[in-house]
Amino acid sequence: MNEMITKRNELLAQKVIQGLQSRNMEASWAATREEALAQALAWIPEGSSVTMGGAMSAHEIGLVDALKNGPYRFIDRDTYADKREAMLLAYDADYFLSSANALTQDGILVNIDGNANRVSAIAQGPKHVLMIIGMNKVCPDLDSAMKRARNVAAPINAQRFGLQTPCAKTGLCMDCKSPDTICCQFLITRFSRHAGRIRVILVNESLGF
Ligand code: SF4
Repeated sequence: MNEMITKRNELLAQKVIQGLQSRNMEASWAATREEALAQALAWIPEGSSVTMGGAMSAHEIGLVDALKNGPYRFIDRDTYADKREAMLLAYDADYFLSSANALTQDGILVNIDGNANRVSAIAQGPKHVLMIIGMNKVCPDLDSAMKRARNVAAPINAQRFGLQTPCAKTGLCMDCKSPDTICCQFLITRFSRHAGRIRVILVNESLGF
């Protein structure tokens, strides 16, 4: 990462971290993806059950491989024929990995979901939620965070999964009601009632979408 961009990111991250902490969430800064991986593994005790929603950022820093191959009980929903069973196990997991579609400068998390397995697990269920978030997801305010979720994250995810949505064709949200829409549920996390349940690692990288 360019030195000047790193300096800007470090300064902005301090404000974001203060915002998250004021909302009863834990937050830390990682200058590199390797540092983010080390912080994540230090937070998750060996033997923990771990699962995830869609979390490209966790893949990108090597966290998913490390958990699958390490001394953890990783619940891999892709290996379950019965998706409902995997979903119910996820709600009872010790740790749930996620990212966010966007994050405001003052620490509000924005996520959208089609099946709602990810947003529901962030809201409640798993004992801990770990979010790996690149600085590319930080937005000035809630309005711009929602716009990012719908005009950046959603179109890319729709293309990734081959969905028949307007945004997959245009790259922009058309506020559709198509059967394939992934904008069924919007989760705005403005406060965590349970101290220490949600932790964000802000990474000085562009991660995920
Ligand atoms: S509402 Fe429809 S068009 Fe807009 S981002 Fe969601 S899926 Fe795409």
